[in-house]
Amino acid sequence: MFLLSLNLEHYRNVVSAKLDFSSKRIFFVGPNGQGKTNLLEAIGLSSNLRSFRKSGMDGLVMEGAKFSRIFYKFECSSNNNYEILLGFENKGNKTLEVDGEKIKRFASYLGQFPSVCMSSRDFKLVREGPSERRKWLDIVLASASQNYFQVLQSFHRAMKERNSILKNNGSDHELEAFEQILIPNAIELIRLREEAIPELSKLLKKYYSSLTGYQEDASLKLLPNSEIEGDGNNFTERLLSNRLKDRQYGTTSIGPHKDDLKLTIDGKDAKTFASEGQQKGLVLGLRFAEFDFVRQKTGRIPMIIADDVLGELDYERRKKFEDLVPEDAQFFASGTEFPFDKNLNDWQIFDVANGTFSSR
Ligand code: ATP
Ligand code: MG
Repeated sequence: MFLLSLNLEHYRNVVSAKLDFSSKRIFFVGPNGQGKTNLLEAIGLSSNLRSFRKSGMDGLVMEGAKFSRIFYKFECSSNNNYEILLGFENKGNKTLEVDGEKIKRFASYLGQFPSVCMSSRDFKLVREGPSERRKWLDIVLASASQNYFQVLQSFHRAMKERNSILKNNGSDHELEAFEQILIPNAIELIRLREEAIPELSKLLKKYYSSLTGYQEDASLKLLPNSEIEGDGNNFTERLLSNRLKDRQYGTTSIGPHKDDLKLTIDGKDAKTFASEGQQKGLVLGLRFAEFDFVRQKTGRIPMIIADDVLGELDYERRKKFEDLVPEDAQFFASGTEFPFDKNLNDWQIFDVANGTFSSR
């Protein structure tokens, strides 16, 4: 998979731009505030139609403009190109066309052009609360499997309905209708997470030590809000016995929406124990684990997007990082300076200034 070109119209600080990519290694260089992250964000949008920087689409349309358009041309095999047109209004509707055909169900599109994005914002995966880690896990597993995506979606829809009935003091009968959907999907979600975490943990360990050279054992564990025994009757019983309490709080108090992940180094909690360098190694390790996992499960090679990451690494780690990016993956990176002494690996370099991009 190869992004051949990108056209932007009224996107953030970009009035209009056309970029043609001729390499697998692309670097955007320029001073602060010129549009490097904006451009990487636009590339990332082609994967899951959401910004890696923020939730919601507001702020993506250029100030003063009504709508924004992004046109992507991908090469999937040597004579198999896809043209994607993504249009959106500020806060408003998105439209999507693939090869001129309107796509109504976005779910069918997701996962076709996967990407993994790394940035300094990733520290929140270690330092902040469970929701960041859960969001990461859901995105990874949904990118790797349509089934996970569907189970997750059914679970959240049923929970939303259940919560609304709880808030509005609906009958037990009404609750049951949605619990019948919620319960099997919750059980399946927990199972799918339990199955995937050991694989992700193994990959994390591998990439953590390759990147840092540390001999420590990095690991990832699921901290499930509810463990599933046998066919999951214990979960059903717990959920039903919580109805009264759930009515009081107007929300579903147990389930996979309360799961967390624990990152450890040599068995110690990384959130409180790890140094800055160890935390950085962990988040980069997680991103490479994500890349490897999605590639193994889907056979597609995700694009790797590294926003302001290379420049923050010392020389040794930068070299290791570059070596870990497989040759067949397209790699987009940014920084205020080009971080290598020589351009040995045929990087295509774009200078970024005030929302314009010029290839050197
Ligand atoms: P840094 O090196 O500091 O990370 P950057 O090159 O990555 O800088 P971006 O985050 O891409 O910079 O932002 C570039 C500019 O885009 C900012 O000055 C911001 O004000 C502007 N900008 C963001 N959203 C919009 C918008 N909707 N309309 C117009 N300008 C915008
Ligand atoms: Mg930036």
